[in-house]
Amino acid sequence: MHNFNAGPSILPSTVLEAAAQAIRNFNGSGLSLLEIGHRTKLFEPVMQEARQLVRELMQLHPDQEVLFLHGGASTQFMQVPMNLLPSNGKAAYTDTGIWSAKAIKEATHFGTVEIAGSAKDGGYREIPKTLEMDPTAQYFHLTTNETVHGLQWQQLPLNVEVPLVADMSSDVLSRTLPFDRFGLIYAGAQKNMGAAGVNLVVVNKNLLGKADRRIPTMMDYREHIREASMINTPPVFAVYVALLTLRWVKEQGGIPEMEKRSRQRSQLLYETLDACPVFECPVNAADRSRMNAVFTIKDSRIEEAFANRCAAEGMIGIKGHRSVGGFRVSLYNALPLESVVALTNLMKEFARQHG
Ligand SMILES: *Cc1c(COP(=O)(O)O)cnc(C)c1O
Repeated sequence: MHNFNAGPSILPSTVLEAAAQAIRNFNGSGLSLLEIGHRTKLFEPVMQEARQLVRELMQLHPDQEVLFLHGGASTQFMQVPMNLLPSNGKAAYTDTGIWSAKAIKEATHFGTVEIAGSAKDGGYREIPKTLEMDPTAQYFHLTTNETVHGLQWQQLPLNVEVPLVADMSSDVLSRTLPFDRFGLIYAGAQKNMGAAGVNLVVVNKNLLGKADRRIPTMMDYREHIREASMINTPPVFAVYVALLTLRWVKEQGGIPEMEKRSRQRSQLLYETLDACPVFECPVNAADRSRMNAVFTIKDSRIEEAFANRCAAEGMIGIKGHRSVGGFRVSLYNALPLESVVALTNLMKEFARQHG
């Protein structure tokens, strides 16, 4: 199978094998990972190592804390403003696609949202080139990669004066960024770093404690930091799969190596799209995502024929998101270049037949 799923998505086969083994017999204990307590000598090192590996791979600042929380990235849409945005305060957001729009909607429950830049009027095809930043905003939120619309910030606006908050759900661990300069980073694990059920949150502790509301324990980052990311039972299996994936990233050469491979995969795909006029990529060339490539077939009557050819060759997950249609090919860290070679060969052949 060539797995181009958008999420949950492809994981390294060695990760899947080790995860299966841990379910049968965890670290030679004779017990399954699923039947041991989380406050034990068996599990505590898993949480510790996972947090440490994130710190190491992303080269974080000592003031940044690493947490593994429940609830998917969607919970962060509310947890971020609940912790960082006072009720009379303002937060600046960019609107670059479905995911940032959802984050904006949730933030409006807690304070005022100002749109610093938007791609909405252009149909989410281009990252805004100029920003109108309110210097009194508590933070500036952006979605580094829009998984559905296939847009990605290639040049991040790092020089803003307010703390940066980023949803990195679909491009975490795929490219080198100055992660130590972010106030808060969050990412659901199931796109690029593991199984569904856990979120990575990296938060600079100096930003906390300024919102003027009482925050329920499970929503309060300070409580999670105090309890070393174990206020309650963590999603043990998802944390373990994240640990295995983080170890794999490190063994392969870390984030720089992931970036190199990601550039190879996406370059091959976009070159093929641009060389075959039956296909069309709606996204401005400079803003195309290296993780999720979206495209259409100009003659919609042959869309189904293309989808059928892909299915016959064992290529799965290429259908576009239900809200935008067309096709979407996800090129996450674990996807071998050979899968992209196979797909682009098929695309070239299809283009010749229908050119
Ligand atoms: C998938 C995705 C989310 C939502 O993740 P859940 O874990 O399903 O809540 C949020 N942001 C981005 C960019 C995503 O790709």
